[in-house]
Amino acid sequence: MKVLVLGGTSEARGLAALLAACSGVEAVMSLAGRTSAPAPQPIPVRVGGFGGAEGLAHYLDEQRIDVLVDATHPFAANISRNAEIAAAALDIPLVILSRLAWTRDPQDRWVEVPDMVAAAETLGQEPRRVFLAIGRLQLAAFRAAPQHFYLIRSIDPMKCDLPHYRVILARGPFDADAEERLLIDERIDVIIAKNSGAPAVFGKILAARRLGLPVVMVARPHRAAQAAHDPETALHLILHHGARHRLRAPAPRGV
Ligand code: NAP
Repeated sequence: MKVLVLGGTSEARGLAALLAACSGVEAVMSLAGRTSAPAPQPIPVRVGGFGGAEGLAHYLDEQRIDVLVDATHPFAANISRNAEIAAAALDIPLVILSRLAWTRDPQDRWVEVPDMVAAAETLGQEPRRVFLAIGRLQLAAFRAAPQHFYLIRSIDPMKCDLPHYRVILARGPFDADAEERLLIDERIDVIIAKNSGAPAVFGKILAARRLGLPVVMVARPHRAAQAAHDPETALHLILHHGARHRLRAPAPRGV
């Protein structure tokens, strides 16, 4: 059974470890190539975009993939849309792996917003010290709020056109004690976070809870399709759908 895992998350890596241990399964991980030194993977890796839904469908067909797995970040909406289109076009099973979103604790001071533009608006006119824990792909929205200082955390060195910012280089997981120290040392007033649901980056949310700091929590893009929430459930679905797909698929070319 051939499986393509669209990755870039710790959940995808967890699933890859399970797939690597499965006999009769040949799995490949696909990464967008955003980070210069990605974390090592337990299965072979290919890097770079496919060229839209059409390019992805071509790859799936050419490689005779039996199951497509979308284990990308919940905010990576384009590749997820392409995965749905390509899998439907070829009638290949699509398994989605995505952590459940975090839910608010009574002690949390969250302002829940639908997108980054709304997140920038909630910061208000008064200059504030903002921890932008959203990666580097969606910073443009904060150009509309240039009066604030932004502390940006990124895996790779980066520059942006915000007037007041500083970059700290780090790769998760981040624990709550270290996050609390960072928030105090940097005199942070407010955090902007994506509701990824990932345990590796939950430390900042816990730290904000302890310090009574507000968190502007950006909601995930809406997704109609159902997802598995852990690698074990995703593996079960892959083996189930993959076996059914192989039963009705034509024999490999050249046989
Ligand atoms: P995106 O907007 O959905 O994707 C943009 C384009 O990048 C896609 O159309 C596709 O190009 C290519 N791409 C994305 N993921 C790919 C993958 N796994 N393998 C091959 N090509 C891929 O995604 P994004 O927000 O830029 O995120 C890029 C990657 O970083 C994702 O794989 C995601 O899992 C990871 N990531 C994202 C975030 C986030 O907050 N967005 C956080 C952590 C990790 P083509 O159309 O040419 O195929």
